[in-house]
Order: sequence, then structure tokens, then C-alpha cells
Amino acid sequence: MSVAGRADVGIVGAGIVGLALAVAFSERGLRVVVFDREERPVGASIRNFGLVWPMGQQRGPRWQRALRSRARWLELGKKAGFHVAENGSLHLAETELELQVLREFLELQAPPDFQGELLNHRDLALRSPAARADRLAGGLWSPHELTVDGREALPAIWRWLAAERGVTVLPDAAVSRVAMPAVHTAKGVWEVDRLLVCTGAELRLLYPEVFRAAGVTNCKLQMWRTAPQAAGWRLGPSLCGGLTLLHYPAFSACPSLAALRTGFERTHAEYIEHGIHVLVSQNSVGEVVLGDTHHYGLTHDPFLHERLDQLVRDYLVTFAQVPVVTPSERWFGVYAKLAGATEIIAQPEPGVTIVNALGGNGMTLSFGLADEIAGGT
Ligand SMILES: Cc1cc2nc3c(=O)[nH]c(=O)nc-3n(C[C@H](O)[C@H](O)[C@H](O)COP(=O)(O)OP(=O)(O)OC[C@H]3O[C@@H](n4cnc5c(N)ncnc54)[C@H](O)[C@@H]3O)c2cc1C
Repeated sequence: MSVAGRADVGIVGAGIVGLALAVAFSERGLRVVVFDREERPVGASIRNFGLVWPMGQQRGPRWQRALRSRARWLELGKKAGFHVAENGSLHLAETELELQVLREFLELQAPPDFQGELLNHRDLALRSPAARADRLAGGLWSPHELTVDGREALPAIWRWLAAERGVTVLPDAAVSRVAMPAVHTAKGVWEVDRLLVCTGAELRLLYPEVFRAAGVTNCKLQMWRTAPQAAGWRLGPSLCGGLTLLHYPAFSACPSLAALRTGFERTHAEYIEHGIHVLVSQNSVGEVVLGDTHHYGLTHDPFLHERLDQLVRDYLVTFAQVPVVTPSERWFGVYAKLAGATEIIAQPEPGVTIVNALGGNGMTLSFGLADEIAGGT
């Protein structure tokens, strides 16, 4: 068997998880090769809101991991030459009960170094031109959140890894079989000392038995992007409304959350059924990204559903006003998810580590997680 190349570390998958690991391992002076089956990034990492969202993480190790990722994004944005907006976030509360959950978060759950604050509706108007301050009870401002655009950032990181770290990134190189140290790819057989498998929503080709046994599944999310807003209109902080409080673990221990959930189950049953909560982000060219929905399972229909976009639009106007919400591009993305966990890390055979299922947090947690894995913590 002729060998196409050798490396200390091989990585399968050039999404944000694989690239973050390539950054961390190459920093330690190791020779790294990254294989991806596609010619350029087209997976979950370019289909998202681009939100680096520490706010959603529980205090403790996950919050710390998110802050480490945040620092990495800022550093890489400068080095690799892509935009990173330090625009923070606003959780907008339409009702007193939503505001109470935000208050409880601040008083009982927020990490000690959390720098956000509760705002009344007058201060909301100062923070955000989009918040419908007149009909809101208040909100929670946080300075910790960033916005990137995966379509810009991933190719830039890819180029920077090759140019500055000597990492070999091989596109069009699907990995079909592993028999360590041999990695069989569409571009020949490579030999590596260690292999990291970061194949995102592709759960059926490499080590499917590991994903099946652990209960990893996929989640389909539907969303859209507008054309650049006219006259340079800027969103300011990324926005979300009350439904988001049901979604992120950061709020799960707030005493009033159960009452909020019961209320939403009564008034917003269709939203709960489709896992809808509404996030609003804006990229550096002024396009606004809106969504999203959550449907779980290994097989999904390939269609975009107008009804689901309508539900997002209807909810959006309860807390925010964006000048133009007409889609210029609509799509869905799929990520791998393990219920109750922020990732799966598994060793299916000596020398091989699976790192996957970062769920809706891949942009937020990948760099911090990669540093922990490469550093052996
Ligand atoms: C609509 C949507 C919105 C989201 N919003 C956010 C957000 O705002 N903030 C946030 O933190 N997270 C968000 N997420 C989650 C985040 O995008 C994911 O957690 C993250 O992108 C997962 O990265 P990944 O590298 O595992 O997957 P991917 O980006 O899908 O990369 C996997 C790569 O593996 C390659 N691959 C698969 N099999 C093989 C093989 N056999 N051989 C070679 N290559 C292979 C694929 O081609 C692909 O490039 C969102 C996700 C979606 C879908």
C-alpha cells in the first residue's frame, strides 16, 4: 500500500470543530492534516447565525470554555483577517414574567464575572434601534456575545492554517475507512499517529455504532437571511425574545422558568411543537439572519416550510422591528446533538477520538473545547 502522506494528527471534517482542533494541535508544533469530503465549507458551520453566545452557557466550566472560545475568535479574526463584531446581546422581555426570569438569572445563576445588566424600556431604546421598547417590559444586556459569519471565517481560518501553521487542508478527500495508522481517503491513504473524527451531522459512515449506542441524533433548523439593510441600518446587539429563555441551559434553574414554560405551552403550542425560538443577528455587510426551528431525528425531509418562517416573522414583531425581513436566501442546516450534553467525546479504538455533537453551540464552544483536548485536560 503506497502512502500519500504522513502527519502527527489527522482530522476528519473541516467544520468549526475540526478547524478549532487544527488550530489547537498545530499551535503545539504538531504536523496536522485535515480531510474534508467537500471542496469548500458547506456544513452547519456556515449555515448558522454566527453567534458566539456565552450567555447561553451555565456558569462553571462551560462558561469558561465559551469565554476561551470568545478570546480565540477575537485573536483569529485579527490574524486570519475576518470580521468579528463585539456587539453583545439583548434578551428582550415582553412580559413581567419573562423579566422576572432574567432578574433571577442575574441574581442566582449568572457567572461571577458576568458583566451584563437589566435594562428598563427607556434604556433598551438607547441600546438597540430594533428593540420595540414601547411594548417591552425590559431586557438583559450582555457585552460578552460576538458575531462572525462562517462563510467568511471558515475559508479564512482554512487559508491561515495552511499559510501560517503549515497545516495541510485537503478538500474533496472523503474518509471512507480507518485502520490505524491508515486513513483511507478519496485522495489516497495517509498515516497518522492520532486521528480526530469531527464529521458533524454525518453519523452513519465512520463509527456509526458509537453514535447509535450513545443516542446521538441530528437536528434540522430552518432560517433565512435578508439582503443588506438599506442606508447602513445596524442592528446593534444580537437580539432574542422570551421563547429563547426556554432554550438555553443558562436559565434552566431560574425558579420562574416553569411558570413561563407552562404559559408558552398554552399560548404558543405551535412554537413549542417546532422548537421555535427567535434569534436575530447581522453580519458585517448588513444582512440580517433570522430563525429558527428545531426538529430532531436521523432522517429529515429536504424541504423549507413557509409556515415555519411565518411563525418566526410573527414572533419577531412582538419584540423587534427590522426594516426589511424579506428573505434573500433561505436554507436549513443540520447539526448532531446528544440530549443533555454539550458534546460527545469517544475513543472507538486506540489513537482515534471522536469529537462531535456540539449541538447549537459549535461556534460558541469549539475553540475552548479544542484547547482542552489538545492540552490533555
Ligand atoms: C441553522 C443553525 C444555526 C446555528 N446557530 C449557531 C449559533 O449562532 N451559534 C453557535 O454557537 N452554534 C450555532 N449552531 C451550531 C453550530 O453551527 C454547530 O454546532 C457547528 O457548526 C458544528 O460544527 P461541526 O464541525 O461539527 O460540523 P460541520 O460544520 O457540519 O462540519 C462537519 C464537516 O465534516 C465533513 N465530513 C463529514 N463526513 C466526512 C467524511 N467521511 N470525510 C471527510 N469529511 C467529512 C463535512 O463535509 C463537513 O465539512 C447552529 C447550527 C445550525 C444548523
